[in-house]
Amino acid sequence: MDEFELIKNYFQKLTKNNPSALKLNDDIFFDKKKNLALSIDTYNEGIHYLNFKNPDLVTKKIIRSSISDLYCKGVNPKYIFLSGSGNKKHFNKKNLKLISQSIKEEQKKFNIMLSGGDTTYSEKSFFTIVSMGFSKKIVKRNNAKIGDDIYVTGNLGDSYVGLTVLKKKLNINKKFNNYFIKKYFLPELPIKLHKYLNKFANSSIDISDGLIADINKLINNQKVGYILYLNKIPLSKNLSIYLKKNNKESSNFISKGDDYQILFTSSKKNRSYIQKLSKRINQKITLIGSITNTCKQRKLINHKKQLKSLNYQGYLHKF
Ligand code: ADP
Ligand code: MG
Repeated sequence: MDEFELIKNYFQKLTKNNPSALKLNDDIFFDKKKNLALSIDTYNEGIHYLNFKNPDLVTKKIIRSSISDLYCKGVNPKYIFLSGSGNKKHFNKKNLKLISQSIKEEQKKFNIMLSGGDTTYSEKSFFTIVSMGFSKKIVKRNNAKIGDDIYVTGNLGDSYVGLTVLKKKLNINKKFNNYFIKKYFLPELPIKLHKYLNKFANSSIDISDGLIADINKLINNQKVGYILYLNKIPLSKNLSIYLKKNNKESSNFISKGDDYQILFTSSKKNRSYIQKLSKRINQKITLIGSITNTCKQRKLINHKKQLKSLNYQGYLHKF
């Protein structure tokens, strides 16, 4: 059984149709009356991060991953609650110093505050983070309109290359290795967009599992499809150089996850506004496709040719 079947079959009904739970099919919980937005995520050693050799970087990565759920809904994160489990190697004095220093730096960067948590002993390390923010409105999943443009912030794929380097399955050169590893641990969240997202986005999600997996989640309750243009999907300069030099296909890099960029849809009439905003707030936003009127049409297109469905669309937890 995969995570989605599990949630749908065993947990969804327990929400008693409370609208704030968003059918357990969105990125967050949102209580409109109380303006409260909340998200929870767990990170396991060996699954979400390879090991605990860089406690500072792991700490930053999981905080960013967690608050990304709020940013992508148009909500500014305010409080985080961090529960950590590990053994005495994970939580030795040196590591604890690094962990607390990293939290301090992330608090400053994102204007968030550690506000609670839990600490327990376990053989392997794992962390759970609750992110909380306040907002009158949010942008939901499953609200894309036929004909909507599809946009993505930042660049995709860098983080996956970083992970491949960390797994020692790839060695480019020192400069490039370091660049991609940094992108893996320290994704650049599109933090300036949340203020504006509610004005023009019909639907949104953050890309954590992979572009294709996440766009499928974005519309999983809708009778619509999409066309994405491979050549429009934004890549960093370094990734483009790497792909060109090594004769690699970008399609194998754009849907691997850990990007923590925002994928959103918006009416065509907002195009020039979004373009101008992107310049004004200095946040890369790229138009990569459109929402179509048939469920069957879920395509990734490369120079007018439809690519076969990618053999890997994104990460899925299975039980
Ligand atoms: P994300 O990838 O953004 O973290 P998930 O796919 O993990 O989102 O979760 C989707 C939705 O399912 C969220 O609303 C989340 O709160 C809910 N959810 C996941 N696991 C459970 C669970 N065990 N019990 C109740 N709700 C859950
Ligand atoms: Mg989750």
